[in-house]
Amino acid sequence: MEHLRIDRQRTAARIGRDIETLSGPAHTRDAVAIRRYAYTPEYAATDAYFARELEAIGFTVEHDPVGTLVARNVPKGMPAFGIGSHCDSNRNGGKWDGTLGVVMALELCRLNGEHGLGLPLQLISFLEEEGSGFGQMLLGSRIMAQRATEEQLRESMFELDTGRPFWETAVAAGYEPARWRESQRVLDGLIGWIEPHIEQARVLQDTGNRVGVVNAIAGYVHADVHVHGRDDHAGATPMDFRLDPTTVVAECVLELERLARAAGNATVGTVGEIEVHPSLINAIARDVRFSLDIRGPRDEAYLGVFRDISAFAHERAAARGMTVDVVERQRNPATPMDAAIVAALEAAAAATGEPVLTMHSGAAHDTMCVADSVPTAMVFVPCKDGISHSPAEDAQPEDAAVAVEAILNAIRALVA
Ligand SMILES: [Zn+2]
Repeated sequence: MEHLRIDRQRTAARIGRDIETLSGPAHTRDAVAIRRYAYTPEYAATDAYFARELEAIGFTVEHDPVGTLVARNVPKGMPAFGIGSHCDSNRNGGKWDGTLGVVMALELCRLNGEHGLGLPLQLISFLEEEGSGFGQMLLGSRIMAQRATEEQLRESMFELDTGRPFWETAVAAGYEPARWRESQRVLDGLIGWIEPHIEQARVLQDTGNRVGVVNAIAGYVHADVHVHGRDDHAGATPMDFRLDPTTVVAECVLELERLARAAGNATVGTVGEIEVHPSLINAIARDVRFSLDIRGPRDEAYLGVFRDISAFAHERAAARGMTVDVVERQRNPATPMDAAIVAALEAAAAATGEPVLTMHSGAAHDTMCVADSVPTAMVFVPCKDGISHSPAEDAQPEDAAVAVEAILNAIRALVA
């Protein structure tokens, strides 16, 4: 199939206009940052903007039982190709995270009509991806994938600002959370799914690439390591008489760096929190807690690092006469993307003539939940200096236009 070249300037202009409109005062509750989350008037206004634009080009717009927007140009249940992202924001967010993906999906729907391509499309804008309304990340897509329970939805989710239960807030907004299980039906008939998103790291920018084709979303394990020592006087206690847990922490931080590098496979390991008790300049610490965030696109690789750093912590603490506890908080497996969709995206992206990189996503996305039942992939747009979840977040509509051209051509090839 011959590569279809779009009018990138016109597409970039429309994407830029959509993004600017959606960062106006009606769409955020903060003067500087973008702040909008599920069931707020700012979110409803944003949702309504997409609904209006999609209806204007002949799409039928509905919402799932909790408020995820679903628009299609073919009858419900008929085969269609899915595209979209989320349009809620972090509490101190920028214009691009999530929203750009929905804007790009909208633009793709416009181009489908303008070029008379007749592609069967279904756009989804997921509710509450960032967890800024109810503290629950990927909430809309988890509900759709049935990765939540009714008990959780009814009893353990509360609006962060008001304390009001999620269930009650959804009902007050006009939705029917009691029918949440039916949300899964949205995925019926989807023959594939592509989520465009800003990269949220600096790989594309620093390697001079304009499009990222995502072949996997990293899995992760989160844990805490507690090191137990003895609090003694920092001046009166000679070096040979100490049980100082900070020494074990120091060894572990460096060993984690070594292990993550040695594991390869894009494995990363981070100690992001260190809590020292009692935290006094003139006292040897009694206990230290440090966190582990270990991720990668290969489960064996990053889980191996977790196993090895846990063993290392025990061994080094024992060698120094101390003990450790390793307490896991959460783990989520890596999500490989569909090989056929990735290949179609790579071919279409290469045909744009622009520099393209195949990469994995270190961050979590709604696509992880869609991937349970639909062949999926993602496409990344470079963002300035890798900054996201910040009002300083920035990206170029011109780069997004190249990605839209690639996605449009990939879908043409996949649907044919
Ligand atoms: Zn996002």
